[in-house]
Amino acid sequence: MSVTNIPFRKKVALNLHRKFKSNEKKVHRLNYLLWECTLRCNLNCIHCGSDCKKDAFTEDMPAKDFFKALDEISPIVNNHNTMIVLTGGEAILRKDIEEIGQELYRREFPWGIVSNGYALDKKRLNGLMNSGMRSITISLDGLKDSHNWLRNNPKSFQKAFNAIKLLTQTNDLRHDVVTCVNQNNFHELDKFYKLLISIGLKEWRIFTIFPIGRAKNEELLQLNPVQFKQLFDFITLVRKEQKIKLSYGCEGFLGNYEGSVRDNFFFCRSGINIASILVDGSISGCPNLRDNFIQGNIYKDNFAEIWENKYEKFRDRRWMKTGICSDCEFFKYCEGNGMHLHDEKTGELLMCHLKRIEEGEKVALNNKKCRNYRA
Ligand code: SF4
Ligand code: SF4
Repeated sequence: MSVTNIPFRKKVALNLHRKFKSNEKKVHRLNYLLWECTLRCNLNCIHCGSDCKKDAFTEDMPAKDFFKALDEISPIVNNHNTMIVLTGGEAILRKDIEEIGQELYRREFPWGIVSNGYALDKKRLNGLMNSGMRSITISLDGLKDSHNWLRNNPKSFQKAFNAIKLLTQTNDLRHDVVTCVNQNNFHELDKFYKLLISIGLKEWRIFTIFPIGRAKNEELLQLNPVQFKQLFDFITLVRKEQKIKLSYGCEGFLGNYEGSVRDNFFFCRSGINIASILVDGSISGCPNLRDNFIQGNIYKDNFAEIWENKYEKFRDRRWMKTGICSDCEFFKYCEGNGMHLHDEKTGELLMCHLKRIEEGEKVALNNKKCRNYRA
């Protein structure tokens, strides 16, 4: 069945989800706060979601500045239900991460880390766990050659893989692997899946790379439309097998794949439940959003006031109903895709997941017809 041919029952569920989203926007309870605590990184990846460089000139934000912002927001959040995620750059490069973790633990905030796994050994993991770390996400982008190519470092696969094996042998720590699927690792997805199962990994997330930043000029980072559609068939199949909990990332309304490739229907929660504090103090939705999406700065604004009174364009997405979204019948479910897929200056949409899958369907159908004709 075509990706745009959504059955009646799923439409009913999607309409209920719209009501749920509308309420979430009204309440806008902050339950994910990401802190870009450094731009320093020990790798120099071909693709990077942040602005990090190997020797970033930007200094790390002093922990006391972050805690001041946390003090401001604390009266309006439930600390037990507000996850603090330390991101970078590579957060583990900060020498004071354990101290920061202990302070978060003392304030009863659950906290976690996103890491490339390169510097995560048993000693460091023990230190982080003793500081109350509750979750960790490690990036692993395919088998050895594919991962090392993307991470631009011949040792990066082995180090990240060792870190993941360590995590699978650790109790009481939620952990998962994220993988950016691209032209180089697409054909090995099945082998990679088997490898992750063999080490006992339980949770895996797949992302596709969007055409911004360093990814814009690197063709190998993007899947072609047929591969893009096949990826969702792969995720659907793996989820049915139930050997690992695989989900597609948070972006993209996926039509008929909604409900099959993630636990929830598409919902870009940026600025609704998710905020971030960037390394220069900027307050944003999620860390993928910069420039025009910045709502304030912790060095001159009160974080709680910004969260309560700004974020208009995050909580009312009607401005996204332009260009190809203006007459799209699915706008009511999609609301113009994830915010990070809009140009930061012009607001223009950079990619529609649904249209890309549709394109893949058409090419696959044409190829099949050609094959039939030739036969
Ligand atoms: S055209 Fe816009 S609203 Fe429609 S599915 Fe694509 S991104 Fe969503
Ligand atoms: S802006 Fe993009 S990455 Fe951030 S929550 Fe929305 S869909 Fe996800």
